[in-house]
Amino acid sequence: MIIVMKKDVSQKNLDHVVDIIEKKGLQAHVSKGTEKTIVGVIGDEARLEKEIILGLDFVEKVMPIQKPYKRVGREVHPDNTIVKVKGVEFGGNDIVMIAGPCSCESEEQMFTIATALKKMGVKVFRSSAYKPRTSPYAFQGLGVKGLKIIQKVGRELDLVTETEVMDPRNVEVVAKHVDMLRVGARNTQNFDLLKEVGKVDKPVILKNGVSTTVDEWLFAAEYIMNEGNNNVILCERGIRTFEPLTRNTLNLSVIPLVKSLTHLPVIVDPCHAAGKRGPIPALSKASIAVGADGLMIEVHNDPENALSDQAQQLRIPEFEKLYAELKLVAQAVGRKLV
Ligand code: PEP
Ligand code: MN
Repeated sequence: MIIVMKKDVSQKNLDHVVDIIEKKGLQAHVSKGTEKTIVGVIGDEARLEKEIILGLDFVEKVMPIQKPYKRVGREVHPDNTIVKVKGVEFGGNDIVMIAGPCSCESEEQMFTIATALKKMGVKVFRSSAYKPRTSPYAFQGLGVKGLKIIQKVGRELDLVTETEVMDPRNVEVVAKHVDMLRVGARNTQNFDLLKEVGKVDKPVILKNGVSTTVDEWLFAAEYIMNEGNNNVILCERGIRTFEPLTRNTLNLSVIPLVKSLTHLPVIVDPCHAAGKRGPIPALSKASIAVGADGLMIEVHNDPENALSDQAQQLRIPEFEKLYAELKLVAQAVGRKLV
């Protein structure tokens, strides 16, 4: 149920409605927009009589929630959610660049790349200490040792850090070392992991799975929000289609669609979609043009000798050139790339 309050409803009256809802064992999701204040009722609505709510003179109307995702959908939260992390804002007018290597390989490699990115003005640094590799014999990541390196880089260079978490048992230790958590494409529907990251007080970047539908992806976000973590950023990273030459095909048509369905920020990772360097600049520009709120791009100082994703990580000068070009594209659509 969605309760639309009359304009300029007082906090006291708003608290009163929330109180009625909570006393029925239901949860209230309050969204104070620029135009309207809306209260979403989450739980078994049969417990709440519509007439009681309609009888309150500060309530404008009561409507059923049409979409099955109650917290993620725009219905209960018409305004964009802005996810804030250390002064960086996802989902506002800024388009946020997240850049860094595929894997955290060593302290030296991490500082080399991060220092170069910091100099260019990049604010959010990516890298992975836990790697979801197809082969169990491939580099699996440095684990906790890697987390400590990521934390050190973040602190010394004043960068926002993010990294992947694959195992619900590692959520706590990962959250202790980085500013943002990432759920990768292989774990989009790992429901235990989603619930665990939902309990953490750090933003979560949630990628689509290679075969998840939009509905499944949004429900995955719903799992996180349902545990209390509202700071979810969706990240399109390509889907598996019949076409092998585009590796995972970047699904750009999903960006405006998802942004119409949800209030959450939506960013794009063109690298894991393309699987090779060549298409990344064009796909990044296109992502900004279709409304992405951010980009995640892999950058390495020596990609040929990288321990993962050698073919798709941009060299530092290649990234620098692209970053400058993307700033102009962002300007052209009335936004600012940071
Ligand atoms: C990554 O971003 O490091 C990664 C493994 O990507 P994905 O989960 O999209 O494959
Ligand atoms: Mn990678």
